[in-house]
Amino acid sequence: MNLFNVENKVILITGGGGVLGGQMAEYLLENNATVVILDYKAEIVYSAIERLKVISNNVVGFVCNVLDETSLNEVCSKIVEQLGKIDVLINAAGGNMPGATIGEHQNIFDVKIDDFKKVVDLNLFGSILPSLVFGKEMTKNKEGIIINISSMTAQSAITRVVGYSASKAAIDNYTKWLAVELASKFGDGMRVNAIAPGFFIGNQNRDLLINKDGSYTNRGNTIIENTPMKRFGEANELNGSIHFLCSEASKFVTGIVIPIDGGFSAFSGV
Ligand code: NAD
Repeated sequence: MNLFNVENKVILITGGGGVLGGQMAEYLLENNATVVILDYKAEIVYSAIERLKVISNNVVGFVCNVLDETSLNEVCSKIVEQLGKIDVLINAAGGNMPGATIGEHQNIFDVKIDDFKKVVDLNLFGSILPSLVFGKEMTKNKEGIIINISSMTAQSAITRVVGYSASKAAIDNYTKWLAVELASKFGDGMRVNAIAPGFFIGNQNRDLLINKDGSYTNRGNTIIENTPMKRFGEANELNGSIHFLCSEASKFVTGIVIPIDGGFSAFSGV
């Protein structure tokens, strides 16, 4: 038996039109999974599908807002009607916004609380709601895997990104909480885990890490100094852990958060 077989698994990726979700979609298609891209704008879904169809025809996409329960329920029914089942949900929709970040010459009292709430909504409730809608569907077969995306900001204070940090710290706890709830009440086929990417250049953090001329910002340099491997991550370096968590290879693994960070979280800075 191939412990890592994901062939014919129906794998949903929220935020599948983004940098990290898109990379996971490519890799899972190359490994013969059926991938469902969920993203909130039609043009994002359309261009992701055009790009991914070159790899495999086993890809479909739906416009879906992870913060809208009605939209999630409608899409859930369509997926089950079209593909018959849901095996894995990857909650990759998420991000940050400037108002929830403390500017270089600001302090915590300048934070825009409405933006703080929006960032918590997107990262926390944008993972909770899909896990409830699609997770409930999975419990019908007592088989299902949920993967959340945490961050280095969850474990210790990373300056400036206060709203984002609060939301990702909550994701770590929710991952453990839901893992316990689903395994104890619906059996060992239901698993919930997370990955915690270190620093990857994405749309949400590009301006914080890279100057217009392509050089690193002060913040970018500080991150590299505190990363024992001395570089940012490449999006495809998340694939191994995603593959592990989607497959039988992690059959007895639930409630964990895997850091993928070039050693950043292991290093004290000294
Ligand atoms: P990205 O901005 O490239 O992708 C996010 C995707 O989510 C976009 O396609 C966007 O359209 C979609 N989205 C936003 N709001 C949505 C909504 N309401 N409903 C549905 N889709 C919505 O970001 P990314 O860098 O690929 O990050 C993906 C995840 O990984 C996020 O949770 C992010 O916080 C996390 N993460 C990223 C990094 C990094 O360095 N890039 C590090 C740690 C964690």
